[in-house]
Amino acid sequence: MSDYKIATKAVQSGYTPKNGEPRVLPIVQSTTYKYDSSFEMGQLFDLEAEGYFYTRLQNPTNDAVAAKIADMEGGVAAMLTSSGQAASFYSIFNIAGAGDHVVSSCSIYGGTFNLFSVTMKKMGIDFTFIHPDASEEELMACFRPNTKAVFAETLANPVLDVLDIEKFAKCAHAGGVPLIVDNTFPTPVNCRPFAFGADIVIHSTTKYMDGHATSVGGVIVDSGNFDWTQNDKFPGLTTPDDSYHGIVYTEKFGKGAYITKATAQLMRDLGSIPSPHNAFLLNLGLETLPLRVAKHCENAQKVAEYLETHEKVSWVRYPGLKSDKYHDLAQKYMPNGSSGVISFGVKGGREAATKFMDSLKLAAIVTHVADCRTCVLHPASTTHRQLTDQQLEEAGVGADLIRFSVGIEDSEDIIADIAQALSQV
Ligand code: PLP
Repeated sequence: MSDYKIATKAVQSGYTPKNGEPRVLPIVQSTTYKYDSSFEMGQLFDLEAEGYFYTRLQNPTNDAVAAKIADMEGGVAAMLTSSGQAASFYSIFNIAGAGDHVVSSCSIYGGTFNLFSVTMKKMGIDFTFIHPDASEEELMACFRPNTKAVFAETLANPVLDVLDIEKFAKCAHAGGVPLIVDNTFPTPVNCRPFAFGADIVIHSTTKYMDGHATSVGGVIVDSGNFDWTQNDKFPGLTTPDDSYHGIVYTEKFGKGAYITKATAQLMRDLGSIPSPHNAFLLNLGLETLPLRVAKHCENAQKVAEYLETHEKVSWVRYPGLKSDKYHDLAQKYMPNGSSGVISFGVKGGREAATKFMDSLKLAAIVTHVADCRTCVLHPASTTHRQLTDQQLEEAGVGADLIRFSVGIEDSEDIIADIAQALSQV
């Protein structure tokens, strides 16, 4: 980890050219790498030597971008994935398998909820979902002897609950397991969960990190702080891996054990790598991330304050608002701002919400969230449309909820667009 500030890391970390080499991170668009002898390549296959042999496992462009994100989060190692979904899946599957159990916040992105409650359940991994506001006692009551991890989002999509990271970390550690957090919405610019005890961070880099809606991607970052040898819960890391001639990851790779295993086993076998070109685009996004995130937050604060006073708006959720339930927690964990995402309701429920959205001119209706262009989504008619109104309430995503992702345009233009759309309702 470098000692630079986050804005310097965003520009400089991960790639330092040597004399005469390209100043900008090159795209190594090659699946494969040439060696002078079979012996040397054999050493790579045995994890006895460091080097590239096949891009499904590692690629220099991808590795440079992963190293930059690891530095920005304050971690020891990272691995890029081809999507945020792959990052969520790998982060858990790297340490849990059939017969295991995970405690997860229920306030998480709907796609992650499906991954856990449907697909990973079919794979034999059980999840207990609990509200992030649960007490320590309630959290501890979720643990079972076969629990392998605790998972939560630092700022939940779309309901914007702020996670009490220290509370979750304390309980995870008391249960002898790591806390894995999805830090997609605040990004390391606004929140660095390792400083509060989280062990693994994941991101959908598709969102602010890329920032321009060009490339789906994900990343897993390891703090290097969790001691996998403290109990016998993580044999995949602490006992010999037969598929690598009996290597014990914790013995051979120390703080790099978790990410090395994820790369050597999961990428090898499941192969969700991003293309080097997408990693290059992600890197361009990262270079301006601190600038963009500050502008997103400045604009979102103005929009949230405007919405809060509007007579046609029934409620607003934005941690930057003093009235917000999570304002104090946000001040602690993300004092410079949360994100550009606001949730709110328009009086008149589902019908009013869709009328409002269809009337917007500048803000576009898209599934996506968190890029430089202002965009908007009505989960009840799109991502959550299979749920009844009652199920929507239970999921914390009411039928009137509008997810408004404030971009980096001029805030006056965004507010003017909202004003004219609300006047149509
Ligand atoms: N995590 C969060 C918080 C998200 O919002 C999303 C997608 O919206 C994901 C994970 C999944 O990421 P991806 O769409 O890159 O697979």
